[in-house]
Amino acid sequence: MQELIQRISEEATVLSDTVLKVDSFLNHQVDPLLMESIGKQIAEKFKTSQITKVFTIESSGIAPAVFTALHLGVQLVILKKSSSKTLNGDVYQHPVISYTKNTTYELTLSKQYINRGDNVLIVDDFLAQGQAGLAAAKLVEAGGGKVVAFVSLIEKSFQKGKKLLEEKGYKVCSLAPVASLENGTVTFLEADI
Ligand code: 5GP
Repeated sequence: MQELIQRISEEATVLSDTVLKVDSFLNHQVDPLLMESIGKQIAEKFKTSQITKVFTIESSGIAPAVFTALHLGVQLVILKKSSSKTLNGDVYQHPVISYTKNTTYELTLSKQYINRGDNVLIVDDFLAQGQAGLAAAKLVEAGGGKVVAFVSLIEKSFQKGKKLLEEKGYKVCSLAPVASLENGTVTFLEADI
């Protein structure tokens, strides 16, 4: 998606050969107009896929995912990274090693928000090693749902996440696939959306 690629080119900071900072429009400050056009584009691509729910992982996936769900006319489910007093009992959980924090958390889904036969689109901000995406898929499948595709806004194609998910049979697409962050420069591949 040209609009997203342009914003990354103009505003992102390359923190290292593997980490990109996009705090000005996605991870800290959020640009709602950009998020809406991203959601619209994703919805357009999947409008004939009979999506019944959009899933995302808190917190940076929420903004683009809510607009995706809005334009598909379905509910959004936010997978939680920690349990709380209001989220206990009937849940599915799967451990995830956090890419940016180097800690492990239990990705959690209340059983009431997944139904047998649900067709789920998973939308997240970044795809790196694929651990968060894989855990999200396990939760969907534990509840009898099917993952139609993973959509990441920014896919670091030089890391193993895309390959890992595709090897497991999932469709993976991205609005801004990044070939490399070497020498402080973001190099893009051709986008799927
Ligand atoms: P994965 O599970 O695919 O390894 O990592 C996915 C999660 O890690 C994303 O949801 C995102 O929060 C975080 N992440 C991975 N790589 C980056 C990065 O380069 N920059 C930022 N800001 N977050 C990242």
